[in-house]
Amino acid sequence: MEKLADTLGRIAPSATVGISQKAREMVLQGRDVIALSAGEPDFDTPEHIKQAAIRAIEMGKTKYTNVAGISELKDAVAAKFLRDNNLNVRAEACFVGSGGKQIIFNALMATLNRGDEVVIPIPYWVSYPDMVRLAGATPVFAHADAQSGFKLTPEKLERVISKQTKWFILNSPSNPTGATYSAKELEQLGAVLERYPQVHILSDDIYEQLVYGGNKFATIAQVCPTLASRTLTLNGVSKSHSMTGWRIGYCTGPENILLGMAKLQSQSTTNPCSISQWAAVEALNGAQDFLSEWRNVFQRRRDMVVAGLNDIEGIDCLTPDGAFYVFPSIEILLGRTSVGGQLITTDEEFVLALLEENGVALVHGSAFGLAGHFRLSYAASDAQLKEALTRIAQFCDALA
Ligand code: GLU
Repeated sequence: MEKLADTLGRIAPSATVGISQKAREMVLQGRDVIALSAGEPDFDTPEHIKQAAIRAIEMGKTKYTNVAGISELKDAVAAKFLRDNNLNVRAEACFVGSGGKQIIFNALMATLNRGDEVVIPIPYWVSYPDMVRLAGATPVFAHADAQSGFKLTPEKLERVISKQTKWFILNSPSNPTGATYSAKELEQLGAVLERYPQVHILSDDIYEQLVYGGNKFATIAQVCPTLASRTLTLNGVSKSHSMTGWRIGYCTGPENILLGMAKLQSQSTTNPCSISQWAAVEALNGAQDFLSEWRNVFQRRRDMVVAGLNDIEGIDCLTPDGAFYVFPSIEILLGRTSVGGQLITTDEEFVLALLEENGVALVHGSAFGLAGHFRLSYAASDAQLKEALTRIAQFCDALA
């Protein structure tokens, strides 16, 4: 067998992608599985966006584009940043990639050297640390525990910043916890970051549209304008417009970083899919009225799932303010044995046994850096969620 690259030895396969793939394969084999493992809205992409893509095909917009995106999309991105985030940026200071994930990858690869550190709050989205490792740098973790609503405190942030810190990754609303920082909380983190001019901020705002109740979305470049020149503000249409498969993410940030990202992109994917870019122009410039309808649906599902999980003995679930995830603790249930005879000592064993025995796919908390939990995505139909809650309750109640 060929020897693979040493860099691959530094990373694990993505757990969110892996478990979702496993669930899809089980369904193909005829198994009855409810997959609540992927962070993916269950709504169809809105019709006007699909039509824009069809028009683009018919008009022959099927060729290579500018590396960092067509000018129409960069204009739409700049307009979006001004409209929603009060960020006044030029279209040339905007960059488009194949999904938010590629934007993060490009940004880290374009900026990190060996010895550099990247501060990542725990729990984190699975791919942040491994992307840092791929770039040859070192992830440094700061615990955002349940007591603080899974939000990082300014004190904890300051404790882990060193001379080597190149980036601080901030993701609000958060994957996997749904924790959402208020403008005031961002200001407090910003006050710490002000003192460390070597630190850049990667603000992953992909769940911006999914904030519930009286809470309001805020982004750090808006709240702390003095940090804007060292902040990369990242967003995309995947979660907001139910366009995960179209692969369009975008950002604005320091010009030299965007130039580095473009250099990298020119040697990898060349440009994001031309048809998807035209669809994204429509997504950003077209009607946005469905967003609030979807938000209401998600909020209702969140309330149903949180209540359903807290009704199960041994599960403890906070009510998150945003995104479409819950991240409950199952610590009390560890050490018990399932009906199928599995001794469950870890959260990973818990989710694997639940998938095998009761057909519900979740992601174990340790994949996000916090053991003793699982992540459930409630971006699924009410019927699926109700059935999943019944199955999770049956599984947990039968643990001996
Ligand atoms: N971001 C989503 C998730 O966490 C999609 C899968 C992925 O790329 O990780 O489930």
